[in-house]
Amino acid sequence: MNAPFQSAAVDARPPLRVLIAAPRGFCAGVDRAIEIVERALERYGPPVYVRHEIVHNRYVVDALKAKGAVFVEELDEVPANLPVVFSAHGVPKAVPAEAERRGLDYLDATCPLVSKVHRQAERQVEAGRHIVFIGHRGHPEVIGTFGQVPEGRMTLVETVVDVAALDFPPDAPLAFLTQTTLSVDDTAQVIAALRARYPQVVGPKAEDICYATSNRQAAVKRVATDCDLVLVIGAPNSSNSLRLVEVAERCGTPARLIQRASEIDPAWLEGVDSVGLTAGASAPEQLVREVVERLGEWREVEEHTLTSAVEKMIFKLPRQLTD
Ligand code: SF4
Repeated sequence: MNAPFQSAAVDARPPLRVLIAAPRGFCAGVDRAIEIVERALERYGPPVYVRHEIVHNRYVVDALKAKGAVFVEELDEVPANLPVVFSAHGVPKAVPAEAERRGLDYLDATCPLVSKVHRQAERQVEAGRHIVFIGHRGHPEVIGTFGQVPEGRMTLVETVVDVAALDFPPDAPLAFLTQTTLSVDDTAQVIAALRARYPQVVGPKAEDICYATSNRQAAVKRVATDCDLVLVIGAPNSSNSLRLVEVAERCGTPARLIQRASEIDPAWLEGVDSVGLTAGASAPEQLVREVVERLGEWREVEEHTLTSAVEKMIFKLPRQLTD
């Protein structure tokens, strides 16, 4: 019997298993922030100004720009009588105060879970405590949270080494709070170091890391333990996306952060039989599909979704947009 003819072009390798983490991508805070800009565009008509990237994703920002959103760094770039939206990361108190002084119509897209941390900060300062804030220097969320309390009432720590360097008296009245998008595992270590040095430190029941950040980290752990390479879709300035890369690498699996499918180097797939795929909280699902399609151009793909949690969180829009 003749052997069946096989073209040299046919890929004889087994299909590439693509393990897609769930949950992934947009969280309720990002959904809400984008909807606020879209509804503001419908209600007021373009242009609608947005202070800072509404969320850390170029694809999202460009899509909103195309609809008439104008992104600026500071309020003085917003012309009088035009609406302005504050980003999901939150803003220092001085920003809405300045908007009010200028008579600007503003919409606050701060994620309610970030606003919750802002209120905790105010309460701790009212109670006479100094706040040790666990977060990443320079991140907009950290700048916004520091701006909720008078200067000098909050100290930033990023690592256990920073905790060791704190020089508060042993009985100082202290509280801790955290950024919402940190690594769950690293933060637990920093809190443990803080409690060991200052047992009287007061903090939230669980750290302030949000449900979306913890769920995405748990989901990427699950896929990373079962694949040869993890691709994380997210921006290089997106804290929660960077943490997903770290979490995957700590499972012993190489991981790459990409913004778009076009950044994938086919050489990464050499010797790889399974790819884990996830997306940071500000990356839309279209980008996940784009990556799966790109992988399919090189190799037959077998897709599996590994679900670690189901999210049902929805946040209300500001009253100005629902009345
Ligand atoms: S990552 Fe968490 S805190 Fe940040 S916008 Fe999403 S839900 Fe809110």
